[in-house]
Amino acid sequence: MTNSIGHIIGGKVVKEDGKSFEIFNPSSGKCIALATNASKKIIDETIDNSVEAFNERASILFEYKVLLENNIENLAQIISKDLGKVHEDAVGEIRRGIENVEYACGIGEILKGEFNKNISTSIDSWSEFSPLGVVLGITPFNFPAMVPLWMFPLAIAAGNSFILKPSEKDPLASMFIVELFNQTKAPKGLLNLLNGDKDVVNNLIQDKRIKAVSFVGSTPVAQKIYENSSISGKRCQALGGAKNHALVLPDANIDYATDQLISAAFGSSGQRCMALSVAVVFKDIKEKFNKSLKEKVSKLKFGHEDLNLNSFGPLVSKEHLESVKKNISLAEEEGSLILLDGRDNIKRKNSENGYFIGPTLIDKVKSSMKSYENEIFGPVLQIIEVNSMDEALKIINKNKFGNGCCIFTSSGEKARKFSQNVNIGMVGVNIPLPVPSSFHSFGGWKDSLFGDLNMYGPDGLRFFTQRKTVTQKWPEESSESKGINLSMPNNLN
Ligand code: NAD
Repeated sequence: MTNSIGHIIGGKVVKEDGKSFEIFNPSSGKCIALATNASKKIIDETIDNSVEAFNERASILFEYKVLLENNIENLAQIISKDLGKVHEDAVGEIRRGIENVEYACGIGEILKGEFNKNISTSIDSWSEFSPLGVVLGITPFNFPAMVPLWMFPLAIAAGNSFILKPSEKDPLASMFIVELFNQTKAPKGLLNLLNGDKDVVNNLIQDKRIKAVSFVGSTPVAQKIYENSSISGKRCQALGGAKNHALVLPDANIDYATDQLISAAFGSSGQRCMALSVAVVFKDIKEKFNKSLKEKVSKLKFGHEDLNLNSFGPLVSKEHLESVKKNISLAEEEGSLILLDGRDNIKRKNSENGYFIGPTLIDKVKSSMKSYENEIFGPVLQIIEVNSMDEALKIINKNKFGNGCCIFTSSGEKARKFSQNVNIGMVGVNIPLPVPSSFHSFGGWKDSLFGDLNMYGPDGLRFFTQRKTVTQKWPEESSESKGINLSMPNNLN
């Protein structure tokens, strides 16, 4: 019988009847668990029982970091089974997640506030950052451990309690990291997890007791979540989709550039919001570039139910597989040239029930094509030819997404020109996946982020806290009152 998974509320697994959905292993296509949509009653009780701010936050996070470190192997196995990530990639995701726990461990340092002595006679002023209360995180399928870890360690360190609503496609890894958190001495009810789909999200967002919503997912949903959160009076940071370009200049080391580009385009089967999905290549080097690319990509391994035999795994679901295939067909219909076809390759592999597709290279792409505008989110690299940096910048800057991009060059001057003129939030110079470390903050521009503050790091701390500014005067005992003064206080009166 298939395991039914429930929610995690007050440190306990709570199961209920209601609308249920199946969770699949994408490598085998087999159902591995059943989950249920959190009912309004359960949502209500969870918010009611969310624990208020508490002390000993840093020591709990240190304890949590050790628990995560000790469970990397177990967690990686869950991610592989539920999402289909190959082992090393799953481990990489967990390590990047743990970085955010480490940042939150320094809460004493990062929450020091701002202080000014003597802003006027005998007056000192400071800003301190107070928690918001109950905050919500809604996360996508593609990083079921890392993205929740972008959010809740810092939110909790800042004094909030947190409700996580993971993706309904693969909630098992998110459940595991919440269970690990509940093994620390943290009060139960500080971190709760509710399973479900958009109905659960909408019920949560409408609740006035939730003060902030941190969202990561696709652009149309991010925009809706941002609008609905604002209507219900809460702050929101909503990170959306992407189409990330890599510009390859004629002075680049082609061998290095193709290695890096392939890693960033096909790692995680292209299911990363920072995946490089478009190579923008100068005409003079394109033949050499395409030759190197095709030779190397043809050697990637995929399509085996035993993930250890693959360079990258399957897509998350049957529906997503169909959507990726549809976009490749669309590119073909629009006049692009399929250099390497993942749809063909798959016919030769023994993977009938898994959601696998082979690596796909598409040349002769134009920025006016619909298949270029879509976020394909699969192991598909599109190639656009240009004649100048200005032409490349025009294409990239016109794209509706603004998450990440990168340039491959050996010229500091050209790298500088590119990074200064590109309207993208995260830029790499000879770095294909410029995901900021936990000491910075993560976020794109344009349709890749709705809201004012980026995810994690210093912006994350600001997002999960509210500023209180105290202005304090201790007049000297000998000083006499200057009497009533109805003019606006300033430093001369
Ligand atoms: P998704 O938008 O379908 O789902 C994300 C979350 O929103 C899930 O928890 C889901 O249950 C919920 N949801 C889905 N539809 C909803 C609706 N109509 N109303 C309310 N809630 C809804 O995204 P996904 O398919 O899980 O993830 C892939 C997408 O996430 C890609 O577009 C990818 O680029 C993006 N992503 C962005 C970042 C980033 O940092 N910018 C990081 C990871 C993934």
